[in-house]
Amino acid sequence: CGICGVTGLRHATPIVFEGLRRLEYRGYDSAGIATLVDGKISRRRAAGKLDNLGLLLEEKPLAGTTGIGHTRWATHGAPTTSNAHPHGTDRVAIVHNGIIENFETLRHELEAEGVVFETETDSETIARLIDLYLSQGHTPKESVLKSLKRLEGAYAIAVIFAEHDGLMIGACHSAPLAVGYGDDEMFLGSDSLALAPLTRRITYMQDGDCVVITPAGAQFMTFDGEPVEREEKIAALTS
Ligand code: GLU
Repeated sequence: CGICGVTGLRHATPIVFEGLRRLEYRGYDSAGIATLVDGKISRRRAAGKLDNLGLLLEEKPLAGTTGIGHTRWATHGAPTTSNAHPHGTDRVAIVHNGIIENFETLRHELEAEGVVFETETDSETIARLIDLYLSQGHTPKESVLKSLKRLEGAYAIAVIFAEHDGLMIGACHSAPLAVGYGDDEMFLGSDSLALAPLTRRITYMQDGDCVVITPAGAQFMTFDGEPVEREEKIAALTS
């Protein structure tokens, strides 16, 4: 139901967690965060209140300076810890808001290729698709773009990749996603409110936009990989 992500020089987990707090108003049933630690994907997830995730993070802190987080409002699969986002593999982690309408078709297709699913969510198909393309030698950007062309439904996603610290890719179709600009750090959020304490410099993504983000900036493109210009705005002050 809400997405927050950061890549920069600071410890990502507290920034992402605070962003998730600011998205709580949307409602949710579980939450999770994934970061890159020494190039490897590490994640913590908890069913129920964000406080549960907070307690887990106190017990098992999550280092790293590139991270994505999610508050989930379950549509496919019970609101359990194992169905909580981020979803992924050793190669990739994703968070997803919305619904992938054709996930059953995609899931059957992937299962026929020998892919094993761990959750009942529609969202896991996104992670497994990207992972398949990565395993075939495609770059992170190519793998996301190829996957986006297969997805039907409404979605906003944020993706990070093992061995690619400082890289975060976002995309949306019929669901909101905003890019925030900091000093040597960049953010992704479901709305400007999620990013309000971090920056007011925002680009609201348009339907069918993909964005490749590094701490230095953002490159916007269509799902065909054609570069597009997107205006940076100053978000209104919010309480
Ligand atoms: N459809 C996804 C799920 O059930 C995402 C739900 C959401 O937007 O939080 O896991």
